[in-house]
Amino acid sequence: MTDPRILVLGTGGTIAGRAASSTGKAYAAGEVPLDTMLGEIRALGLEAELLPKAVARIGSQDIGWTEWDALHREITVAQDDTGVDGIIVTHGTDTAEETAYLLDLTLAAGKPVVLVGAMRPADAVGSDGMRNFANAVRVAGDPNAAGRGVMVVMGDTVFAAADVRKAATASVDAFRGFPRGPLARVTPSSLDWFAPPHRTAQPPRFAWPEALPRVAILTAGAGMDSKPVEALLGIGCKGIVIAGMGQGNAPRVVLDALEAAVDAGVPVVRSSRVDEGMVDRNVEVDDDARGFVAARALGPAKARILLMVLIANGVTDPAAIQAAFDQP
Ligand code: GLU
Repeated sequence: MTDPRILVLGTGGTIAGRAASSTGKAYAAGEVPLDTMLGEIRALGLEAELLPKAVARIGSQDIGWTEWDALHREITVAQDDTGVDGIIVTHGTDTAEETAYLLDLTLAAGKPVVLVGAMRPADAVGSDGMRNFANAVRVAGDPNAAGRGVMVVMGDTVFAAADVRKAATASVDAFRGFPRGPLARVTPSSLDWFAPPHRTAQPPRFAWPEALPRVAILTAGAGMDSKPVEALLGIGCKGIVIAGMGQGNAPRVVLDALEAAVDAGVPVVRSSRVDEGMVDRNVEVDDDARGFVAARALGPAKARILLMVLIANGVTDPAAIQAAFDQP
């Protein structure tokens, strides 16, 4: 059997980070060129042919439309290229869940697409980058990884894009899956899937748009007033995600201002500032009367991505938006 051919799209992040000292705290993301990283990976003797292409060299807090558009284009071309078996995107961990979910919503569930990052810079003591990368190579090169949508590999765990989130700021096991747990366990020499592919040959859920609209996340806090909502409308937000308390709650004056936004044609999605759990319709907030959408299992960051994609595709009716959130 020939080795799988894997396109590696580099964007930067800590996996390509360099520190002033290997025991210090300070470092810069995206410093190590993709070719240097691939040289180290090749030296591990993995059974894969790696085809590098640099898209960016940034910390993922700076990622946005330009890089997303480039990634979507490159992966779409690679999906049709018989010379490519799988795709890896090296990515900062801060926004890995957003990029992964955006691509997951807008790509066919064909060849494996795997985002991989690291929590420690490449030259730090106990760096996790090379291990995570080697794990990603194993996943992207596995024919059984196809038909699962976009995945994120962190540590020895494989997550689906819709489920994954960064749940800790600095520990190496920072990623969690909700509401579903991991899809698989992986090491550089083993890969165990917990279920068969669930999205085989599915077309993209949404068309790739010309641009993404301005959608803001507003975090609710005790004692806040309606002014932040009015400010967001004042700068032309096309949608608002409220990161609410508990099950997506907010002070009554804030809910009233958000209801006015809905009446003005700006969709409002209620998510939670709490780390984990569902936000369901009509619990303490009367979504039916106010015209809000409940984010269900999606946290604020991913709720914003889905709302942007929906609005860009012309979906602005609350019932139609709710239907999309009911099937993340
Ligand atoms: N903030 C940077 C980023 O997301 C570094 C964090 C990381 O990659 O873990 O790219």
